[in-house]
Amino acid sequence: MKVGIIGLGNMGGRMAKRLLEQKVELGVFDLNKDFVRHFVELGAEEAGSPAELASNYPYIITVLPNVHIVKETLTGTEGLMAGFQSDSLLIEMTTSIPSVTKELNAMMKDKGFRMIDAPVSGGVKKAEDGTLSIMVGGELTDFEEVEPLLSKIGANVFHVGEVGAGHTIKALNNMISATTLAATGEAMALGVKMGLDPNKMLDVINASTGKSFSSDFKFPNQVLTRKFEVGFTLDLMVKDLNIAMSMAEEEKVPMFISSSSFQLWKHAWSQGGGDQDHTAIVKYIEDMFGVEIKG
Ligand code: NAD
Repeated sequence: MKVGIIGLGNMGGRMAKRLLEQKVELGVFDLNKDFVRHFVELGAEEAGSPAELASNYPYIITVLPNVHIVKETLTGTEGLMAGFQSDSLLIEMTTSIPSVTKELNAMMKDKGFRMIDAPVSGGVKKAEDGTLSIMVGGELTDFEEVEPLLSKIGANVFHVGEVGAGHTIKALNNMISATTLAATGEAMALGVKMGLDPNKMLDVINASTGKSFSSDFKFPNQVLTRKFEVGFTLDLMVKDLNIAMSMAEEEKVPMFISSSSFQLWKHAWSQGGGDQDHTAIVKYIEDMFGVEIKG
């Protein structure tokens, strides 16, 4: 199977590595030439432009920072649309805005090209292990065609509806994830302020109803160790929350809980340091409470 991938960062790079390990014939393009060189050394073929990649590889994966870059990568003079063949299929794995994804799909359809949206969840650890959740929006036949490929990088591959549905559920998932991390951060900080041991608190929470991916994974590995190792940045989390909030606005519904957590995320983000890991939000909560949550 010949697959081209654009975006070799924290997520795309790990997906590319897994695909190469599983003998997928891989073409790569990224603005960061160090990343490209690394993958060429591992056996991938470099393309000079998205158009060149699309003319040589029938399946193209995009894992880019945001929808503006995806649009430029598709429609620019040396963009993907200048190279797509009649059977090409774009697998858009960026976390993106559903309404714009639908517009891009309509544009692709007009030219006779196919597209699905297939954003992921699970962070760099699951990308490395090939155990991501992948949520696909698109024609069922297109989904079935690429399911074996997606199974090489994901352990849970879902078809969730038409084009845009993947990006919709992804934004909603991250809204829950962001709100849970913020709420767990406040609870942990308050507990420490009241004299509790953070390790003991996590033992209890993780055996009780307050358990979440934040309490089970992010707190023990990133916060209590004070590592805050960069995997998913604060910039990207705020981008995702903006997407979720704009979806709510389009549908004319309030988001009482999530918008309150969003203000806390924007407070942290507005202090600079958007390139920190998103778990750094806990440091801003700690500042407000005057404590440190340390293992
Ligand atoms: P990243 O910033 O680490 O990687 C982005 C890559 O895209 C970089 O290598 C960059 O050089 C490249 N790039 C930027 N503009 C380009 C262009 N015009 N042409 C070609 N390459 C270009 O980001 P990431 O953390 O890998 O995230 C990628 C996407 O995956 C985002 O949409 C993010 O929201 C989503 N996501 C990330 C995580 C995570 O844990 N990091 C988890 C789930 C989803």
